[in-house]
Amino acid sequence: MSRILFFNIPAHGHTNPTLGMVRELVRRGHQVRYYSYEPMREKIEDTGAAFIACDSFDRERHLSAKDAARVGKDLAFSVEILTDTTLALEEMVRRDVGRFKPDCIVADSMAVWGKAAALKYGIPFVSSTTTFAFNQYSSKIMGRRMREAFAFLLAMPKVGRQIKRLKNHGYPIKNVLDILQNDNDTHTIVYTSPEFQPCADTFSDKYAFVGASVRPAREEIVKTRDKLLYISMGTVNNDMLPFYEQCIRALAGTDYQVLLSVGNAVDARKLEELAECLLADNLRTGSLYKGNPQMESLSEEIYADITVYREVDQVGVLKKADVFLTHCGMNSVNESLYFGVPLVMLPQTSEQRGVARRAAELGAGILLESAEPAAVLKAVRRVTQEKAFGENAGKISEGFRKCGGAERAADKILEVIDIS
Ligand code: UDP
Repeated sequence: MSRILFFNIPAHGHTNPTLGMVRELVRRGHQVRYYSYEPMREKIEDTGAAFIACDSFDRERHLSAKDAARVGKDLAFSVEILTDTTLALEEMVRRDVGRFKPDCIVADSMAVWGKAAALKYGIPFVSSTTTFAFNQYSSKIMGRRMREAFAFLLAMPKVGRQIKRLKNHGYPIKNVLDILQNDNDTHTIVYTSPEFQPCADTFSDKYAFVGASVRPAREEIVKTRDKLLYISMGTVNNDMLPFYEQCIRALAGTDYQVLLSVGNAVDARKLEELAECLLADNLRTGSLYKGNPQMESLSEEIYADITVYREVDQVGVLKKADVFLTHCGMNSVNESLYFGVPLVMLPQTSEQRGVARRAAELGAGILLESAEPAAVLKAVRRVTQEKAFGENAGKISEGFRKCGGAERAADKILEVIDIS
């Protein structure tokens, strides 16, 4: 039996893909302790791993809204926050390493305190990467721009000060890339297939492309129309009320069944009311069922076709969906393609633009030209009507299913322990 420590950041998109692998390790009789944050407790404990809360050690949680917006954009500030968190967790991790004696540390690529601990205590390390794997070749498709490279260089002196703080605490870190980037010597689990990963052949055999990590569906979704459109902008930056309104304007009175997941930031009731109003308008003016008055009696049923939720069982929905309008978070795209569902894409960040570009390149979807209702409807119609999009998504799905999933990811960790 092996003992494994996991470290992650408080994000569903970084946690969900690891759950199947953790469950598999526990099922095989290994002991797992998982450092994460209260909102993730339930899903982590559900795998059988022991959950350890890091909430009170996380500097990011206590930032003002203005400073929180700098994380991820301002490199020097981000490294300062990561260093603070690493040092705040230091004592707890030191005691745990002493008592638990882990055979391996697995950390999300952004939970740098996990990698830092592995380096400090000389423990075999595996990186869990929930985006595409990153190197000089794949970065081209991921759209890292010159501007970002410049900002990186300018930030170096301030970053150097943080590296020094880590060194002073005994972390053998020479430069920022030691903790922020995986090279070809780092054992790395990537939750996609070699076919979907850009430039997969430029990564060493230390990289395991295990395919989309898709948890089981919790709910059976009932399909009420021939075509089901699912819309979600993910769980992080989903405060997009004007966009959701445009979607409803685009789709009210069409023959699509629409499930809209909007998150906690916006007023879902307001959106439901908008859908109700638009449909009533359509019925009143006759624009919806021109020349077919009997259809009016179906209004109740048709109204039910745009449904707004704060959160849905996304895997359950994607099992039945015909098209997914997505922000192109890596998990959402992976989950969609796993079920062969083609995409209409509205990426918001450079990472999401990279994922969108790759899916478009492989013919599994199209980018939304604008958020205007006419553009939304045109894109949704095109992707559902032209068979090639679904077929290409289906080919990627086949590739994912050959990768071995959670079992392969668990094997990878155990291999690293065996060879160490
Ligand atoms: N998700 C979900 N229900 C929802 C919306 C999202 O279960 O209503 C899940 C989705 O299945 C995925 C994760 O949340 O696993 C979102 O991750 P992604 O990387 O796509 O985007 P992020 O939220 O990190 O921007």
